[in-house]
Amino acid sequence: MKNISILGSTGSIGTQTLDIVRNNLDLNVVAIAGNSNVELLRQQIEEFSPDIVCVYQEEKAEELRAYYKDYEVKIVSGMDGLIEAATWDSADIVLTAVVGMIGIQPTIAAIKARKTIALANKETLVCAGHIIMPLSREMGVKILPVDSEHSAIFQSLNGENPRQLEKILLTASGGPFRGWTREQMKNVKLADALNHPNWSMGKKITIDSATMVNKGLEVIEAKWLFNVPYDKIQIVVQPQSLIHSMVQFVDGGIMAQLGTPDMKLPIQYALFYPDRREMDSERVDFGKIAGITFEDPDFENFKGLALALRAAKEGGSLPTVFNAANEYAVAKFLKEEISFLDITEMIEYAMNNHEFIPNPTVEEILKIEQDTRKLLEERF
Ligand code: NAD
Ligand code: MG
Repeated sequence: MKNISILGSTGSIGTQTLDIVRNNLDLNVVAIAGNSNVELLRQQIEEFSPDIVCVYQEEKAEELRAYYKDYEVKIVSGMDGLIEAATWDSADIVLTAVVGMIGIQPTIAAIKARKTIALANKETLVCAGHIIMPLSREMGVKILPVDSEHSAIFQSLNGENPRQLEKILLTASGGPFRGWTREQMKNVKLADALNHPNWSMGKKITIDSATMVNKGLEVIEAKWLFNVPYDKIQIVVQPQSLIHSMVQFVDGGIMAQLGTPDMKLPIQYALFYPDRREMDSERVDFGKIAGITFEDPDFENFKGLALALRAAKEGGSLPTVFNAANEYAVAKFLKEEISFLDITEMIEYAMNNHEFIPNPTVEEILKIEQDTRKLLEERF
């Protein structure tokens, strides 16, 4: 039996993880956490009987408490609650699927508690990879990627010598606006940006895919997970999302992982690694695939990609500024308060008006997030 704690159980990755639990009797949910969706958390409590539930918003936690007695389920809230769910004693593995850099502190706490991490929450590594990766090595804790590209890289590296890796070929679908100019993107509506051609995901990452900021975050995520310098990570646009990523070795050989665009495979692979389990999912039918095409990424029209690479290369506090500004801007775009192109304008403004810190601590990272928000609130 494997005991699992799911941070972000009400989201896209979280609910797909629970589908996997339904199909595997040796997975047992001991902790779940969400932001505010009390109704769904209630259903999850009824079905999976976790020991502890965190509802981040205290007033929503209060609502949930009205339904249960103390001995039935422990209900906690806020950051302390999230950390308690992440470090719950009986949990073997913590699936981090909250959205955003809110995941930093619970992830660090889970590593310190020696939990295996199945990591979907990329923003955490983007901001704090320099803290999390050395800590996981020190604690002897595995960080298993859930992001489809990183899972593909991880699977392609299976049994290989990482020192013989020449480069990572990180694939990208290009999103709904692939091939568009900035001029064409000027009047993009929220519904257009939410309409991803291949993947069904949470709203924030769907917008990140439309701006290509997601691919920028993934480059940084790959650097930390696989310990490779940025000049060895190449983005390859592959619009059909059939190849989930590739690795190239020193002899020129390339290994790739392919599949239908279904997050359940990478989630399940992380939960059972190094085992593979049967999965009743759609299979690739090569007879029906018209072709696989490749393109170089467009750094000029997708400014978010260029800004992410700048943040990546300069390092230090800049990836946090990049990420915090993006989180702030995307939230505004989702409320239809700013235009699509404003997202990258805000990121650029925040990056250009930041005092660089070479090696920020967790406290400094959280302060940078606050300062970035304040800066953008004042300016826009
Ligand atoms: P989502 O918006 O569907 O779900 C986010 C989850 O986080 C929800 O359960 C929400 O309640 C929870 N949450 C948000 N703030 C919280 C807080 N303060 N405290 C506790 N819980 C909180 O997002 P998603 O698409 O599932 O993505 C989750 C993470 O996985 C993101 O970092 C995303 O980049 C990454 N990811 C997602 C996919 C995908 O297919 N959805 C693929 C790769 C990576
Ligand atoms: Mg991805």
